[in-house]
This record gives sequence, structure tokens and C-alpha cells, in this order.
Amino acid sequence: MLRATNLTKQYPVRGGDGVVQALAGVSLELAEGETLGIVGESGSGKSTLAKLLVRLEDPTSGTVELDGVDLTTLRGGALREQRRRIQMLFQDPYSSLNPRQRIGAILGEVLAVHRLAGDARGRQRRVGELLDLVGLDPRLTQRYPHELSGGQRQRVGIARALAVEPKVLLLDEPVSALDVSVRAEIMNLLDDLRRDLRLAYVFISHDVSMVRHISDRVAVMYLGRIVEQGDWKSVLDDSAHPYTVALGAAVPVPDPSLAEPIQATVVGEVPDPANPPSGCPFHPRCPLAEDVCLSTDPKLLPLRPNHNVACHVAIRAAVPAA
Ligand code: SF4
Repeated sequence: MLRATNLTKQYPVRGGDGVVQALAGVSLELAEGETLGIVGESGSGKSTLAKLLVRLEDPTSGTVELDGVDLTTLRGGALREQRRRIQMLFQDPYSSLNPRQRIGAILGEVLAVHRLAGDARGRQRRVGELLDLVGLDPRLTQRYPHELSGGQRQRVGIARALAVEPKVLLLDEPVSALDVSVRAEIMNLLDDLRRDLRLAYVFISHDVSMVRHISDRVAVMYLGRIVEQGDWKSVLDDSAHPYTVALGAAVPVPDPSLAEPIQATVVGEVPDPANPPSGCPFHPRCPLAEDVCLSTDPKLLPLRPNHNVACHVAIRAAVPAA
């Protein structure tokens, strides 16, 4: 349904000659009704990827196809029509809602712009249905965003995204700004909506436990590339890349000859994408780095069925010795 192929994004360095490589050849697929979790630290390229997938920004190269239509070549009305089918939910529900509009007007405006739900009376009825769908009292239409709790505002954000009847929702850290007590409620609501409306999600988070909760498949990002990808259980419970292990997955060991499990912590920061390390971009922080890692960037290769990894050591450990 949604397919990104070899997406790259470069930004010019402010006041300099070089470029910041925010995305370096990311490919992924999303099937109908599926949830793909994307996990990584801040600076890993997750949010840049989200913006390219909904065409809020143009890629430097690569394509994004929705049901076979390349979004990167569309303009004007054709782009608007396709954008309806892939909606984005932002991290901060407060800043994404107009503080001067009542909730009813915010949702009604979306319906009017897209000419959905008929006349004013039809739109009013549909606004009530949307609020009910996300577990809010339809009487909240008269309230302003500042009169709602964070959880209620995020529910309004979800209702606004659903108003245009999308097939794909891009959820960029959708619960990170919320109190811990309401995170589970919103996650359960997203789960229910996906099942009931047959939605597909791209769920972006730095929090492995959230990704684990909701994903069918997981992609782990580091410095603008996918370093591990596959079925959620295989990637998170039997991680092969040292970075995934460090993000908090259960302590697997890529090299079975190692007596000690890898430490589930990684020292240092994500490197400057304007000046990335040679070879494997993770090598300055990797407890398993070898000479080859300093010179050769590992490719994302199959480790086992439905599980790929970009790590020299993990791939070598998976290949039986001759
Ligand atoms: Fe670590 Fe080398 Fe694997 Fe990169 S390729 S993650 S540096 S072991």
C-alpha cells in the first residue's frame, strides 16, 4: 500500500559548503491494516522520514508510492487528493490545534475544505460522530483547545486526522507529550481504531516499549538509515544490531561466541550528520566494532526470514562457518 524506495534527504549546511545527510537511502513497505514501528534516538532521521512520507517536504532522491501512485511527482489537486489518504498526527496536540477555534469549528473546517459530510447540518452530525469515535463527549464542540486536557486534545487531533477518511496514519511520537497515566488510554484507542477502521499506521517513537505495544513490524533507525528491520518479535526480542540491543531490547548477542551479553547501554551521542563517521556510522559507539567497521558501511542484509540487519558482526555470526 505505502512503499518508500531509497529515500534520501540532504540539507545544505547553514553558512557552509557541505550538506547534512538527514536520510541516507531508506526503503520500507507498509501493507493495508499493518503497523510499522520506527524507533531510534533523536537525530536518527525518524521525523524527516515522516515528513517525506506525507510529502510535507520533498526528498533529495527516491520515491514514495501510495497504491502505486508516486507522491513525489504530484502537484496541486492531485497531491491534495492523495494527501487525504495519508494523514499525520503530531506529538504536541496543543500546538497543532488553532487556539482561537472551538473544537466543533476545527473539525467542521476540515470537512468543509474537503467537501465531506454534505451541508452545515451534515458536518455538524459528522463532527459529533468523530468525537464519539475517539471517546469524547460530542458536547465538547463548544470548548476551546485550552479548556481540554492533553489526552482530550490528542483525541481531537486523532478525530481531525480521521475526518478525511485516510487509509494510513503517520503517528509521530503521538503519546510522548502526554502524562504517563493517559498514554495507555491513547495507545489502546489507536489500537481499537486501527482494527475497526482497517487503518495502517507508521508509528514513530524513541520509546521501544511503545513500539513493541503496537507494531507488527519494526524498523530501527540510526543516523538517517535503517539498521535493523523485521517482525517486531524477532527484532525486539532477538535483536542482532548492537544499537537495537542498546535501545532496550532483550539482551541477545549477535556473536554466540561472546561469553557476555552486550551492555544494554551505548555511550556517546548520535554523530553529527554533517560529518558522519567512516564505515559503519555506529562504530564510534559500538562495543563490538572491528577494523572492517571503520572502513566499510554494512548493507542491510537478510539475517533470517523477515529480519534484516546492517552489521558485519551480526551477519557473520548468522552465517554458519564453512
Ligand atoms: Fe558495530 Fe561493526 Fe556492527 Fe557497526 S558493523 S554495529 S560497528 S559491529
